[in-house]
Parts: sequence; C-alpha cells; structure tokens
Amino acid sequence: MTSTQSTTQSTTQSTGIVVIGAGVIGVCAAYYLWRAGHGVTVLDQGEVAAGSSYGNAGLIVPSHVTPLAAPGVIAQGMKWLFKPDSPFYIKPRADRALTSWLWKFRAACNAEQARRAMPLLRDLNLASLEEYKMLAGLEGLDFGFETRGLLHLYAGEQGERECEEILESAHQVGLDAHMVGREEVEALNPGAAILAPGGVYFPDDAHLDPARFVRGLARYLEERGVVFHTGRAATGFQLRDKRIAAVETDQGPVAADQVVLAGGAWSPAIAGALKLNLPIQAAKGYSFMIDGESLKLTTPLLLAEAKIAVTPLGGRIRFAGTLEMAGMDLSVNRRRVEAMRRAIPRYLEGVALDEVDAGQAWAGLRPCTPDGLPLLGRAPGVENLVVAAGHAMSGISLGPISGKLVAEVVDGETPSIPLGLLGVGRFG
Ligand SMILES: Cc1cc2nc3c(=O)[nH]c(=O)nc-3n(C[C@H](O)[C@H](O)[C@H](O)COP(=O)(O)OP(=O)(O)OC[C@H]3O[C@@H](n4cnc5c(N)ncnc54)[C@H](O)[C@@H]3O)c2cc1C
Repeated sequence: MTSTQSTTQSTTQSTGIVVIGAGVIGVCAAYYLWRAGHGVTVLDQGEVAAGSSYGNAGLIVPSHVTPLAAPGVIAQGMKWLFKPDSPFYIKPRADRALTSWLWKFRAACNAEQARRAMPLLRDLNLASLEEYKMLAGLEGLDFGFETRGLLHLYAGEQGERECEEILESAHQVGLDAHMVGREEVEALNPGAAILAPGGVYFPDDAHLDPARFVRGLARYLEERGVVFHTGRAATGFQLRDKRIAAVETDQGPVAADQVVLAGGAWSPAIAGALKLNLPIQAAKGYSFMIDGESLKLTTPLLLAEAKIAVTPLGGRIRFAGTLEMAGMDLSVNRRRVEAMRRAIPRYLEGVALDEVDAGQAWAGLRPCTPDGLPLLGRAPGVENLVVAAGHAMSGISLGPISGKLVAEVVDGETPSIPLGLLGVGRFG
C-alpha cells in the first residue's frame, strides 16, 4: 500500500469521516462509509492490520454463538486462572480497570445474558458471512475466502462433553451442525493424519487469510479515494460544544464531521481523552505457522480441550490460541506457546512442530468487553462519535457487519440489526 505516512496536515477543512484504527473493524467501516458516499480518512499508529487483525486464525464462525461471558466460564476459569500454561490466564496485578472489568464479567456470566446474546450473535455472524460473500466478489480482491465449514474436535471425554454442549447451543438458535465420528472427520480432511476420535461439524463456517483481507480491502479503498494515514497516531480530540471538530494526531490535527473509533484493544486509551470509559481488556493470543506438507488440512479445526484453532492458509497451516489477560503487553510468553505446541499431537499426528520457534510466535490483543459483546453505536456525551470496538475473539467474523452497521448509524438509518444489546453506554 502506498502509505501517506508523515503527511503533516494542519487542516481546518473537514475531511468527512475520520476512522481511528486500520484493523478489520476500521477498514470494514471505511468500506461501508465509502460505499454510502462519504469522504473517509483512516488513521493508524502503525500500518494497516498492525494489531490483532494480522495473525489471528481467520475463522468466520457463525457457530460461535456463545459469548465469552457464559454460565460455567467462571468455574472453568478459576481452575485455569493463575496457571501459567493453561489456555486461559490472568496475570495477577493491582489494576483498577481490570478489577472493575472482572466484576462486570462475573455479573454477565449468567444464563439470561447468554440467552439474550446468542440470537444476536447468530444474526450478526450470519449477516457478516453474507457480506463476506459479496466482498469476495469485488474486483481485484482475493483474500483466500473458503466455505469449508469448521470441525470442532475432541480428544477425550471432557472435550466430547464440551462439543455436545456447543452442538446443543447451536441447535437452540437454529444453526446447522452435527456430531461426527472418525470417518467423517477423515472425509472432510483427506490425507490429514487426525487422531481425534470425533467432534462436531459446522458446515456453514468459513475462513480467510485475515491480513490479506484487511490489507486488500484497504488497497481497494485507497485506489478509490479513501485516504489512509498510516504511522500516524490519534493523540486527542478538539471538542466544540460536545462535538469533535478534529482528531489530534502526533502529526497535527485532522478535521472531522464524524469520528469512528475502531482502535481495538487500544480504544479505552484513545477514548480516555474524551473522559469516555470503555470497559475493554486486552486478551493476548498467539499464533505460529508451519508448512502445509506435514498436515494436509482442507477443513479448519478447533481443538476442544486445548482451545487451539488450526487453519489452512494458502498451502501453510496456522495454529492460534491461548487467552492471556496481561494488559497491553505484546511480549511472547514462550511457556504458553510451548504449551500450545505440546497439546497438538494429542489430536494430530506427524505435524512438523520442530520448525516452530516459540519465541518467534505472533502475538495479538483481542479487545474484550465484560459481557462478550462488542460496543457498537453512538458514544454517550459526544454527538459525532461512533464506537466500534470490543469484538474479542470474533472481530474477523463480525468485521463486515460491524462496518455496515457503523455506516447505518452514521447516516442515522435504522440499523439492519437492532443494536440495543451493543450500546456503548451499557456499562454505565
Ligand atoms: C490468537 C488470536 C486468534 C484469533 N482468531 C480469530 C478468528 O479466528 N476469528 C475471529 O473472528 N477473530 C479472531 N480473533 C480476534 C480478532 O483478531 C479481533 O477481534 C480483531 O482483529 C479486532 O479487530 P479491531 O479492528 O477491533 O482491532 P485491531 O486489529 O487490533 O486494530 C486496531 C488498530 O488500531 C490501531 N491503533 C491503536 N491505537 C491507535 C491510535 N492512538 N491512533 C491510531 N491508530 C491506533 C492499531 O495500530 C491497530 O491497527 C483472534 C485473535 C487472536 C489474538
């Protein structure tokens, strides 16, 4: 992408809509805003897809209808809580924002919240999948989009129970899914040496190469007049009568009619300049790639007990997993990557894991809200700010529908999916 890096702009002229953050959410918002006829400028402190949108598993998962905050999560989480090589880990520390987040998370882990969230997550996911089908047809945009479904595999009894529960949740909201035995697992992945005895199959899930998608869509937009200022950080806001007149950056202000905040896990820090409290905690995950020769995978996998996603991406295989709440820290904890590597042979045979250097794993920060639902809509107290952040483990899945909803909100239209549960001010 031709970067407009370092273009110092001390403009007082409006540039239309300014989107902060060029991850999957910001770039999708830019696409739908551009399509609706707006002039759009996207700011990112790094490059396009510099954050969590780069090395994630790339799964588009209508099957994921259970939010992170769900009944039973606390009990399971307590077992894992301070175990440094478990799939879920909280780094013990005195941090008021974390304490407050955990309190709200605890309150959200109940059956009623899950019951309300599940149909909404289904609708958002299915609508997003339809948008992906449209985006995959755009001229010159190839991001490895494939609709091969997803196999959630178990290795033992605990995982089998988990798969059955996931199947039940999917059926409750009318999604297509069924349990599979070894034969069907092998048929879905001919040539791959899979040891897992079975799992649950979601035929409507899909996958893509996330960095190719976000960067490809940004390039598509840039060629059509959307301005990308990469290497330019939003540092504050110029406010006039409860409206943002300009976004302050480290290279001068950028005037704005409306602002979309899509800064992923960095969103609370950016919103802090407006005294807006966004309860988002960063949940770090890791990924690493191997050559596809030793595992001829065609259908993506989720390894139930290990909580690892395995995605075929253009002849290579990506393994992604772990959820570590350690603040805004992107350092790689080798012990946790090693734990991922050790868990894989329980499900898959002969995978060339020796070529993996744990210290070189990619790390990304999932932006997590206490109730597992994104924040999407107008911000309380600031008339021309729309927030689209907090997509946790589903930002790729929900990118296009989030972008579409942002454009609808900006234009004052009735959102195509009701946003009540996603309200930005819902945590007070
Ligand atoms: C290991 C792992 C696996 C995952 N797998 C999946 C999956 O299979 N499917 C799925 O749907 N989701 C998955 N996710 C979650 C997904 O990656 C995130 O939900 C999604 O990337 C969030 O997108 P975002 O645009 O909100 O944030 P980001 O991609 O993090 O983008 C935020 C952007 O804001 C920029 N920024 C920050 N501060 C500033 C500033 N002050 N000024 C300007 N720019 C700024 C950053 O540089 C960054 O580019 C996974 C995540 C991880 C870590």
